Amino acid sequence: MRIDVLTLFPEMFAGVLGSSILKRAAEPITNPADPDDVRSPVANYHVTNLRDYADNKHQKVDQPSFGGGPGMVIQCQPVWDAVQAVEAMDDRPATRILLTPQGEPLTQPIVEELAQLPRLLMIAGHYEGIDERVIEKLAPIREISVGDYVLSGGELPAMTLIDAVVRLLPGALGHQDSAHQDSFSPGAKRLLDHPHYTRPRTWEEMDAPDVLLSGNHAKIEAWREAEARRRTEERRPDLLDNDPT
Ligand code: SAM
Repeated sequence: MRIDVLTLFPEMFAGVLGSSILKRAAEPITNPADPDDVRSPVANYHVTNLRDYADNKHQKVDQPSFGGGPGMVIQCQPVWDAVQAVEAMDDRPATRILLTPQGEPLTQPIVEELAQLPRLLMIAGHYEGIDERVIEKLAPIREISVGDYVLSGGELPAMTLIDAVVRLLPGALGHQDSAHQDSFSPGAKRLLDHPHYTRPRTWEEMDAPDVLLSGNHAKIEAWREAEARRRTEERRPDLLDNDPT
């Protein structure tokens, strides 16, 4: 998958895209048994500075809001030109995404849908947002929110979306099943995950549940299912409507 991001703050992405699973997903896949078997990375990221598409020597891309009021608005022209230029860099069709608090709330099923696509182009707003006319002209464009609160820019939401999508791409996680079992995922019946424990068996006079050390896989599975359901009932009863069983 190719992921493009248009932003006024490209430097914000280096740490996140250069660490952990997102970093590994962008590295060529090697085969220890065959040094000649080198395959393309699971994902590649291209972060573009919107200022590179400004039409003035000061690289200014924002202006005060028509009608008055505080805050600046990102202009149409740099956004439009950047989208055209970046889309032309690769043959794969890009699904355009605008990160905005006014978009559809991001959920795991949306992430799963986006993870099937060959290419995503994310636009991060800043200040008061982006001139509405370019958003209209970029249709079809998917408007996505990471929650009912307002951040200073679309950079953190774009990173959130990249992380959620890339970890679902085949080969991105060491253990392929783990994403399938997480909270909200089909393997967890779209409920919350069960609690997890690890060594030592006793810590601060608290024991890990005996059943998890019993070696009885059927009992462990039954315990985990019951705990996931109990937890969901307590914390997110709204999710129980998703579970057909
Ligand atoms: N004036 C806008 C409003 O009230 O809807 C808020 C603009 S916000 C300060 C600046 C940018 O941050 C937005 O253009 C968007 O890209 C991003 N942003 C802020 N909160 C977000 C959220 N919850 N989800 C996705 N993007 C968000």
